[in-house]
Amino acid sequence: MKCAMCGRTPDQIPEYINLAKESDYQSADAAVRYEEGTYHPAYDKFICTDCYVKAGQPLMADVYELYVRQKGSVN
Ligand SMILES: [Zn+2]
Repeated sequence: MKCAMCGRTPDQIPEYINLAKESDYQSADAAVRYEEGTYHPAYDKFICTDCYVKAGQPLMADVYELYVRQKGSVN
């Protein structure tokens, strides 16, 4: 699972590492699955908070459209 915009995995992003520690998730990956509002299980992608803010806090419909466009790519 990677951020659809910067390509970082949850264990490379301090926000989710800290969230996992604070909320007793087994991994940063799990913290994203359960807590990150942009996470979509069908695509197994999310957008990290940094990217989401940089993108101007897009509507979820636009976020999902990005996942659809990326589907099948290596990113
Ligand atoms: Zn990102």
